[in-house]
Amino acid sequence: MSTTMADAPEHISDAPGYATHEVLNQAGALTDYNAYADDVALVEATKVFGADWSDAHLRRTGAVVGSEKVQSLARQANRYLPELKTHDRFGHRVDLVEFHPAYHELMRLIFGSETHSFAWTHQGQPGAHVSRAVMSYLWNQGENGICCPMGMTFASIPALRHDPALLEEWSPHILKAAYDDRPIYAKEKAGVTVGMAMTEKQGGSDLRATITTARPATARRGTGAPYLLTGHKWFFSVPMSDIFLTLAQTEKGLSCFVATGWLPDGSRNRLKIQRLKDKCGNKSNASSEIEFHDLYATMLGDEGRGIRTIIEMAHVTRLDFAVGSSGLMRQALSQAIHHTSNRRAFQRSLVDLPLMRNVVADLAVESEALLWLSMRLAAALDREHAEREEGLLSRICTPMAKYWTCKQAPQFVVEALECHGGNGFIADHLMERLYREAPLNGIWEGTGNVICLDVLRSMRREPETVDAFLAEVRLARGADARLDAFTDALVRRLANISELEPMARRVIEMMAFALQGSLLVRYSTPAISDAFCATRLDGDWGRAFGTLPNGLDTQAIVDRARIRTT
Ligand SMILES: Cc1cc2nc3c(=O)[nH]c(=O)nc-3n(C[C@H](O)[C@H](O)[C@H](O)COP(=O)(O)OP(=O)(O)OC[C@H]3O[C@@H](n4cnc5c(N)ncnc54)[C@H](O)[C@@H]3O)c2cc1C
Repeated sequence: MSTTMADAPEHISDAPGYATHEVLNQAGALTDYNAYADDVALVEATKVFGADWSDAHLRRTGAVVGSEKVQSLARQANRYLPELKTHDRFGHRVDLVEFHPAYHELMRLIFGSETHSFAWTHQGQPGAHVSRAVMSYLWNQGENGICCPMGMTFASIPALRHDPALLEEWSPHILKAAYDDRPIYAKEKAGVTVGMAMTEKQGGSDLRATITTARPATARRGTGAPYLLTGHKWFFSVPMSDIFLTLAQTEKGLSCFVATGWLPDGSRNRLKIQRLKDKCGNKSNASSEIEFHDLYATMLGDEGRGIRTIIEMAHVTRLDFAVGSSGLMRQALSQAIHHTSNRRAFQRSLVDLPLMRNVVADLAVESEALLWLSMRLAAALDREHAEREEGLLSRICTPMAKYWTCKQAPQFVVEALECHGGNGFIADHLMERLYREAPLNGIWEGTGNVICLDVLRSMRREPETVDAFLAEVRLARGADARLDAFTDALVRRLANISELEPMARRVIEMMAFALQGSLLVRYSTPAISDAFCATRLDGDWGRAFGTLPNGLDTQAIVDRARIRTT
């Protein structure tokens, strides 16, 4: 005999929410904290590298990033994804991308916080790049999809310097602290975003394989002259960019161009968005495939020297990816500490179980080492024009930091996710988003191998870069015997640079360890530097996180990494 609802005893429908149980032992969200002020190591690094004059600005940004509001916007922007609208309802071709309002709100927040412009509007003030790097570190904990347009807009200024007239024309618009989502000509907007379209189907690492062509639009030639571009780009993120840099072949070779998304008469520049990429992560941000049909663009920099011009942009975005991946890992760590401190198993908080403490402490050591590395290179960017040694250090170590930081991110996030048990693997949890995001910074602006080869190229072309790197590492000489021994072993490996290509990853990893060790010994606490030297330099470490040897002060390490509200 079957039972129907009509047969159900009356008291069932009276039960509040049909409750079967109390919700117990869930950690809840880490929310409404200050991602800057509540992060001890970050505040210290800001001070050490001379950026504490911007403390109030950083506190404001930290409060926004740590707010429930930003977390909720980020969740929505990643759930309701951008959509391509090729035509309007009357059949006109429009090539627009429609975003959820949450994405626009996040863009307003990040551009309003000056994260794209602060270093340039405060140029000459010591620590300006460090301040901006701290903001980028913070926003990469808020939502990564908006950091791509922010980072490219920031990085456009060094490339534009190749043509003072173009710099003067565009920098006032690029530096405005505003976001304007209207599809109109850049000069009519309250604020602009800048993109970069380089990668084509047949080759992204080897840009010399570019087949897009450019022909002069008038009798003028060379930098500042108008050209018409025909071809395609296989990856173009932020297709709603108001301005973008791109590459095309002229009769003198590969050249760099600057184009606007819309023309002064209000029409779309001659580009067609073929489709949006369906990506593994970075979903709130649109990435597209496009075709140029006589795209109207202006040559930037010397004709035939396009890679040299656009590499200025890449140098700065590479720093941003080191900073960005460090920020992403910091968020993963903050979540792991919050969760393991607020969930109990076997009568104790998870973080107090010895093996879990080892995992979290190991992640904390890694996170802090990457933080100091990233911020040291932001400081080098600050001083690169004033001090030759800093320029050399920046050249060799910025790609090195990009390589190593991005390489660490996926395994770091996986371990932090596992600290959450099943909850971490569920969509809607921040950890799931970080997991899908983690590999990306290692791909764009140069994959791991390409970046390593770039470091080797700098070493060969300018051997003084190696001297500048070793001089910086040796500032800690004598403070820790393990660091000294490790540095000596590295020097032996560096003896014959011309034979290093097959071993480039190994050597660059060692360089990252040596510089991180030196920075931690000089600037961090003994608990952190001791753990780093014992494991990464002296080799008492396994092949997964959570393999610190006994005898280290893991309690002090975790307490230092704890967001103060946790
Ligand atoms: C989400 C996303 C958004 C993107 N947005 C943009 C964008 O806005 N603008 C843009 O221009 N590009 C963008 N890209 C493209 C990105 O920059 C390229 O994918 C990247 O540069 C690699 O190029 P490729 O895909 O052609 O790979 P390939 O160049 O084919 O490389 C494949 C592999 O070969 C390796 N390799 C290449 N050369 C060597 C060598 N000499 N020695 C050893 N190994 C080598 C690489 O390390 C890599 O592992 C985006 C990519 C993604 C995933």
